[in-house]
Amino acid sequence: MNGIYLLLGSNMGNRLEYLREAEQLLISKGIQIVDESSIYETEPWGKENQDWFLNVVLQIETSSTPEVLLNMILEVEKSIGRIRKEKWGERSIDIDILYYNETVLKSDQLTVPHPGIPERRFTLIPLVEMCPLELHPTSLKNHMTLLAECDDPLDCKLTDYKL
Ligand code: AMP
Repeated sequence: MNGIYLLLGSNMGNRLEYLREAEQLLISKGIQIVDESSIYETEPWGKENQDWFLNVVLQIETSSTPEVLLNMILEVEKSIGRIRKEKWGERSIDIDILYYNETVLKSDQLTVPHPGIPERRFTLIPLVEMCPLELHPTSLKNHMTLLAECDDPLDCKLTDYKL
């Protein structure tokens, strides 16, 4: 895997504005955006009876370590005013580190690659769009293969929205 990839998601209020605000805040912290996926509208994972998400994957460049990057992301989430009511509940903005190049790490704060990648179509579909043949660093499968093998039934629709 070559590249640092983030997944942004929002399912509260003006979802597109939250995604845009998050991207601008990341840029204001010195993160460069190298590439971005289409925006997808996706059925909520883990808990029903909540609104659908908008999701986008960003490829970024940063000289920060994974831990420092996580702290920046948590600051962005906080400043956008995420109200954390429950696990998998509604959120104005959620940002996950999907990949940090070939890095594989697991600590109390951070797991990279993000463990949800192989089981979530809303993550795999934008990754197939951006980097179909890149290999997931632990399974050593590419994103096309991971998507073909994924049995997530939740819907993930392409939209015309732009960041
Ligand atoms: P959640 O709100 O469910 O996305 O969980 C957020 C927490 O997950 C953060 O406070 C991180 O400490 C932890 N975490 C573990 N791995 C990751 C990752 N790859 N990207 C973002 N957060 C992570």
